Amino acid sequence: MFKRSVGLAILIAVSMFVFITAAQTISFEKFHFSENKKAPEPEPEPAVVVKKPAPIIFGIPTDTLEIVEGTVERGENLSQILASFNISPVTIDQLARKSKKIFDVRRINAKRNYIILHAQDSAQTARYFIYEPNEVEYVIYDLNGELDIRLEKREVEVVERAIAGFIESSLFESILAAGGSPQLVNHFADIYAWRLNLSRLQPGDHFKLIYDERQVNGNVIGFGKIKAAYFEHEGKPLYAIAFGQEGQKAGYYDQDGKSLKKAFLREPLEYSRISSRYTMNRFHPVQKRYKPHLGTDFAAPRGTPIRTVGDGVVLEASYTKGNGYYVKIKHNKTYTTQYLHMSKFAKGIRRGSRVSQGQTIGYVGSTGLATGPHLCYRFWKNGKQVDALKVKLPSAHPIEKKYREAFEELKSELEGKLMAIEPKGVQQELLATEQQKSFNEEEV
Ligand SMILES: [Zn+2]
Repeated sequence: MFKRSVGLAILIAVSMFVFITAAQTISFEKFHFSENKKAPEPEPEPAVVVKKPAPIIFGIPTDTLEIVEGTVERGENLSQILASFNISPVTIDQLARKSKKIFDVRRINAKRNYIILHAQDSAQTARYFIYEPNEVEYVIYDLNGELDIRLEKREVEVVERAIAGFIESSLFESILAAGGSPQLVNHFADIYAWRLNLSRLQPGDHFKLIYDERQVNGNVIGFGKIKAAYFEHEGKPLYAIAFGQEGQKAGYYDQDGKSLKKAFLREPLEYSRISSRYTMNRFHPVQKRYKPHLGTDFAAPRGTPIRTVGDGVVLEASYTKGNGYYVKIKHNKTYTTQYLHMSKFAKGIRRGSRVSQGQTIGYVGSTGLATGPHLCYRFWKNGKQVDALKVKLPSAHPIEKKYREAFEELKSELEGKLMAIEPKGVQQELLATEQQKSFNEEEV
């Protein structure tokens, strides 16, 4: 009993200390002004007091104002931020209401930056509150009189960039060394994943890339799409040219106008373990006898989403004693796939539904003849069951005849640009710059 109360006392003392320290940190940050405004960082930097000759902040002269720069704390809202600056709850409520159509203050997020310009009175009465929901936008709350609210946007510059490099250790490191970002590596890997085994790259393989970078005030805030890429693996070149055809999502095509994607995903589950392969002779775990297993079993937890491997139409979404709940999809006149033992179908999946590659059609279960949750996946080619893991998968739609000319034109232009990039690793070239104001352009 005695021991326990001592323990409790210590616990209380420690929590008090943590609480007080945290409270001090919060107030410290709020009432000081840090010199450099930067994009938000995971850990807010300790703020520093800086006196400057009355800078103009977001077009507001600050001769008679003090500048407080802060970062929204976790769980902090507008009234908590403004309460320390002599703004009444009534005014804050009015502000929130008036702001709704311009910017909903409930969307104020932790780690985003704000600035408060307050009067040089003892109450530090806020005159302006400026919140930055992202790197591009900022909302100015004018707290003088009418409560004027404006949403403004910084100018986004789209700069075309070109990088090139040799694979030394990994694709990731090589693209980063060439000046790219992790997101760029992901995008690049997505484009080539269908045609190259990116974990088996060779030293001497090299890449060239042309992509858009989005900048605000010279700071990179993200990148747009990759326009063209070149990859040379074991001496064989593979281009990826971004091209859009009507009625289809823009895709990447190689130098022959073939899609870099396959018409089918290799596996219907994203993460899983193959528990039983396609074989002519398997001991059936439930029926306890040898028989052919004309599918591939993937062990996965119940409820794991099952993706259709290709576009198509649902031929059957039904139940049998052996299959349990299952879905059969006809992709075209050559290919059909089937997914068994589902716990349930995905919303909207029924006979006749159109599905597109990667769409969730159901969830892993153990209905029918099954010992545990798994997916039995079956693949038909020309009416004959084949091994889905071994069948040669066809490419997705190539460039159509009517777009061939436009594609060839774009291709030769981009080929020229790609060839002009020197694969020297760290070299970067600025190819072209165009101004662009819209924020809603391509984001990847
Ligand atoms: Zn099976």
